[in-house]
Amino acid sequence: MIEVMTIEDFTTYKSQQGYFIIADSTGRKLHSTRCAAVDSSSFKDKAGDAASHSRRCFYTDDFFEAREYPKVKKCEECRRLL
Ligand SMILES: [Zn+2]
Repeated sequence: MIEVMTIEDFTTYKSQQGYFIIADSTGRKLHSTRCAAVDSSSFKDKAGDAASHSRRCFYTDDFFEAREYPKVKKCEECRRLL
């Protein structure tokens, strides 16, 4: 699993097959990289938001590794893609 640190990395991974885990104060969500609810603008906005300072984003191409992330929940928007 790789932590996504920049918007450039996010854009690169977004175009690949795989999974994002987004962890913040509201919880930990597992997304497909194709999820419509996760795009570069939301990544940028939320990453730059002081209230979401603890927000972290990870990428993996391994579904089982993604599922193993502690307390992760499937995103409601993209469940069918997972
Ligand atoms: Zn999603």
